[in-house]
Amino acid sequence: MLEVIFLGTGGVMPTLERNVPTIALRYKGEIILFDVGEGTMRQMNTAKLSPMKVEKIFITHFHGDHYLGLAALIQTMNLWGREKPLHIYGPKYTFQFVQNFLNSGFFRPGFDIHVHELGETRLEFGDYEIWSFKVEHGVPALGYVFKEKDRRGKFLPEKLSEYGLSGGPILGKLEKQGQIEWNGRIIRLEDVIGPRRKGVTVVYTGDTEPCERVRLFSENADLLIHEATYLTSDDRGESYHSTVEEACQTAKKAKVKLLALFHRAFRYTYDEYAAKARELCDVPFVVPRDFDVLTFKSGRWEMRNLRED
Ligand SMILES: [Zn+2]
Repeated sequence: MLEVIFLGTGGVMPTLERNVPTIALRYKGEIILFDVGEGTMRQMNTAKLSPMKVEKIFITHFHGDHYLGLAALIQTMNLWGREKPLHIYGPKYTFQFVQNFLNSGFFRPGFDIHVHELGETRLEFGDYEIWSFKVEHGVPALGYVFKEKDRRGKFLPEKLSEYGLSGGPILGKLEKQGQIEWNGRIIRLEDVIGPRRKGVTVVYTGDTEPCERVRLFSENADLLIHEATYLTSDDRGESYHSTVEEACQTAKKAKVKLLALFHRAFRYTYDEYAAKARELCDVPFVVPRDFDVLTFKSGRWEMRNLRED
């Protein structure tokens, strides 16, 4: 099961209601962070997410609202006696910026920190992959794809009984070997399982102006978290950001199943922004608030808020 926890959903400046960008993915006991805005520690505490379960942090770019929580997070990990290494991934200059943090104040981490500077890279981790891709934001900036690997189909009870298989270790043997001899017949794994189950795909753009690569990397994604800082192109001016309408158009072209409109400028109230999004957007979308959680279950997303649990 995959959960996408929105720890900070606003752009540039934190307000009482919303923090700056941090997204936590919870997958099989691990917490993966995408961006670490200022105040991430407080947001994680509120959401009851332990920093000790974080092994990988992916930073989209080095504008303050996306990474200034990193120093506090690392210091807290140290205070709690962390020994496990931490991996920090980001675009060009990540090494330099992390080094600057580690050289600030009377502080030396007691655990290893590995920094990985990425271009367009595919990283493989057990049951999932993370892909990075370049976006357009006026500074080195990346978007990320979390891609769960496809899994084999489920055993089909009617097929198992047809072959006289009742479960137990024999199924383990069939899975391992691909075929077995049973009651004088050869049974192949594909004879008794359903179609392959597609892994879930989540894309996070970070900050970007409308960009063809986002569409390309989001093709048929289950969730696209697209920055949509502004409601109109007049409001955007010359900045390298997207509007709600542009994010919706990209989601539509890429045929994503759900769009999350993210990084809302602090000038807009939630109601004003959501109302305008309903007017402009003709794809399934949500406007996440801080502590909203999207859970992917049986092929669909469910949303709840941790403060209401
Ligand atoms: Zn930015």
